[in-house]
Amino acid sequence: MENPKKPIVLCFSGLDPTGGAGIQADIEAIAKHGCHVAPIITANTIQNTRNVIEFEGINPNFIYKQAKTILEDMPVSTIKIGMLGSKETTEIIHKLLCEHPNIPLIFDPVLSAGGGTSLARDNLIDAINKLIIPRTTILTPNIPEALLLSDKSDSAEQAALNLNKSGAKNVLLTGTHSDSTDVSHTLFQQNKAIQTYHYKRLPHEYHGSGCTLASSIAAFIALKSSPADACKHALDFTYKTLVHAQALGQHQLIPNRCH
Ligand code: PLP
Repeated sequence: MENPKKPIVLCFSGLDPTGGAGIQADIEAIAKHGCHVAPIITANTIQNTRNVIEFEGINPNFIYKQAKTILEDMPVSTIKIGMLGSKETTEIIHKLLCEHPNIPLIFDPVLSAGGGTSLARDNLIDAINKLIIPRTTILTPNIPEALLLSDKSDSAEQAALNLNKSGAKNVLLTGTHSDSTDVSHTLFQQNKAIQTYHYKRLPHEYHGSGCTLASSIAAFIALKSSPADACKHALDFTYKTLVHAQALGQHQLIPNRCH
């Protein structure tokens, strides 16, 4: 008998030539969970394991035609969005999402590199809030991203709640950027915190941990986990990739997704 077909995750992400973040993180993590990636590059970057030096967006019409061609050919189970880079790319992906309203969307709002360089141009944040957040099934902001997206909030928790109210059905606020001893990640659903996941704080900085987490969630949703289970499995997996991360460059460590 033929093997059951792998669920397909359509990923919109930037290309990070260190191989730590972006589309390579998606492909490695999602393949590890037994799903197939259909990769669409939104932006090309020049970077090392310390920081992003420069980026160039891919032509939005090209992205649209690429994704439309795949969606007409392949039964996509889940869509994952990472780096959008520009308002124009956000608008064109929104158009695709409107044409496919029933596919769950996992959105990692990539707004800056770990080294600090902004990956958001012009009115990107406004476009994300208007066009992508209301369509998101699971949003995975870290603390700075939550505060950038909801800039009138007094705290990251309030920002996560506001994003939940704005239409993101589940918001997993990741807690790495706080100064607590352990790291706590909280899942918000229906305007309240429903679950907190605790992990020991690891001593290093990593390049691509957020991408590993969001793409793993996308894979578990494609495999029919509930949002809370998908977040738990993806957080456990990501933690292991960080425990086994390697210093392949001179700065941030690269998560070991093939361990
Ligand atoms: N996607 C791309 C293309 C990037 O260059 C970066 C960071 O530099 C990210 C995503 C976010 O990486 P992280 O998972 O470390 O937040």
